[in-house]
Amino acid sequence: MLSDRIQLLSESLTMAITALAQQLKREGKDVLGFSAGEPDFDTPQVIKDAAIEAIEKGFTKYTAVDGIPELKEAIVEKLKRDNGLNYSTDQVIASNGAKQSLFNLFQATINPGDEVIIPAPYWVTYPELVKYSGGTPVIIETNDDTSFKITPEQLKDAITDKTKMLIITSPSNPTGAVYSKEELEAIAEVLKGTDILVASDEMYEKLVFDGTKFVASASISEDMFNRTITINGLSKSVAMTGWRFGYCAAANKDLVKAMKKLQSQSTSNINSITQMAAIKGLDGSADADIEMMRQAFETRCDEATKLFNAIDGLSVVKPKGAFYLFVNHKEVEPDSMKFAKAMLESVGVAVVPGAGFGSDGYFRFSFATDIDTIRKGIDRIKTFVENYN
Ligand code: PLP
Repeated sequence: MLSDRIQLLSESLTMAITALAQQLKREGKDVLGFSAGEPDFDTPQVIKDAAIEAIEKGFTKYTAVDGIPELKEAIVEKLKRDNGLNYSTDQVIASNGAKQSLFNLFQATINPGDEVIIPAPYWVTYPELVKYSGGTPVIIETNDDTSFKITPEQLKDAITDKTKMLIITSPSNPTGAVYSKEELEAIAEVLKGTDILVASDEMYEKLVFDGTKFVASASISEDMFNRTITINGLSKSVAMTGWRFGYCAAANKDLVKAMKKLQSQSTSNINSITQMAAIKGLDGSADADIEMMRQAFETRCDEATKLFNAIDGLSVVKPKGAFYLFVNHKEVEPDSMKFAKAMLESVGVAVVPGAGFGSDGYFRFSFATDIDTIRKGIDRIKTFVENYN
């Protein structure tokens, strides 16, 4: 019954842990969850108000497939203001989350056998969508030594005549690594003279810490602008996961047209009300709320990093952005599924095993939750590690 294509998609490795956490909760066990990939904050009021107004004004019909002109204008303005990028409205598409932007992109560009370079640890969806699109994921392993960033040499070694695309995620889910301008320039240098595309996932752009400056891949040079597809959205930076708004921008208008064609034959426009709300998330109206959330994440990040690094056997590279810690537990236990499962069963703490992100021996701890719960959770993890055998 099932297509070969759909059978290429793997079940999420983390599902087993999530299911176990739910089962333990049902049994009445006190489980603390640190696996969430979404902010614990509510969507800023100014954004909600715009949505309410849209409903009341009856803005509830189909719109243009790629978004209403005002929204596309707001995307273009945002990319200019924040990132120094000069796109026009026919170079951007609003989609149902960055996830749909990525799906459109892979479907529109990848031919059977094309290779897509994905640095690990990676966001779980990339290799799955690449496979689904007929491509072959080529994984570059990174670790704590390079703060989970690829080196130009690694990239050079991974490139073959089949390489179609490189994915860059900065800030990264799950490590919080952020590529500096110089590091992006070094990557750009390797790509020069090739026709390799860059998918730059910039979802956590606004969540950077310790004065780290976010740099967009497309802003590095004209060459990078032309080869990069910028992917972004408001789910993480503006606490709008449920609204389903993301976007992509690309210099190549034929590619934009192709992605729009796919979207027109699959989902059409994104929710009309979300479009009105998203304008407020992009145009600076919610900047004070965004900064409040960023500061809260930074405070939690500082404390959680310190607490983890004080536990014998665990270590974590302090993230420069996003809201995750990627904790190394190799000294205690190399198998991340085994470790996460045992931690959940013995001390009731749910984290995501690193194997799910392509890097065993780590777990991802989300600090998108209040500081008291974070302290309590890390305290339990300390007890668990002290008694692990
Ligand atoms: N990219 C990264 C790196 C993410 O972590 C996520 C969500 O977890 C997404 C994209 C998808 O976000 P959206 O809600 O816009 O589909």
